[in-house]
Amino acid sequence: MIVVLLGPPGSGKGTQGERVAAALGVPKISTGDVLRAAAKAATPLGLEAKGYMDRGDLVPDPVILGIMKEALSAPEQAKGVVLDGVVRTVPQAEGLARVAAEIGKRVDVVLLFGIADEELVARLSSRTTCGACQTPFAGRQPGETHAECTATPKGTLVRRADDEPESIRNRLRVYKAQTEPVVAWYRASGGNIVAIDASGTFAEVEARALRAVGR
Ligand code: AMP
Repeated sequence: MIVVLLGPPGSGKGTQGERVAAALGVPKISTGDVLRAAAKAATPLGLEAKGYMDRGDLVPDPVILGIMKEALSAPEQAKGVVLDGVVRTVPQAEGLARVAAEIGKRVDVVLLFGIADEELVARLSSRTTCGACQTPFAGRQPGETHAECTATPKGTLVRRADDEPESIRNRLRVYKAQTEPVVAWYRASGGNIVAIDASGTFAEVEARALRAVGR
């Protein structure tokens, strides 16, 4: 089963995607996490991606398609995968459909997380993220040790460069201009889109997301 999580930054799709993936017994792949790890390790991919990411712009499609292709052909993805943060443009949606067809699969469901802009800005500007395992938190301060971190050594909470106000505004602009057309593309191509109201408590949104995948 291939599940695509679609929604603006801050809509909680990454965190909820973890629960969906666990319920389905499949891995979750976040292109943002892959790119941030590459940037931290200063690999050629990471160095290319970092400037785009810090500004809140999208990394070019060919880079993303390469990551997607590699991820989908990995043996641990045989049962399926939850894709978080990909697809973000129409060419990526087309590319994913092509890559999936090559391995005899298709996108089974698109979960579309929806929430008001003001709520997104409030969430992102108060978010901190573990520098080691990338778990996001609300209401915890930069510099705190992430006591529950499974990495060695344990990570420290940081504010992501793209969670600064200017970058947040740009990411929302980019979402509307480049990612919203993906919803229309899936509708036009007969995709199975389920809208999830991403406002409310974590448990409420989790219940909606799990219901959407039949769990
Ligand atoms: P995220 O962690 O999903 O918010 O992604 C953080 C940043 O990584 C984005 O603002 C983009 O710069 C880059 N990125 C992640 N996924 C993609 C994608 N599918 N297409 C283009 N850029 C991406």
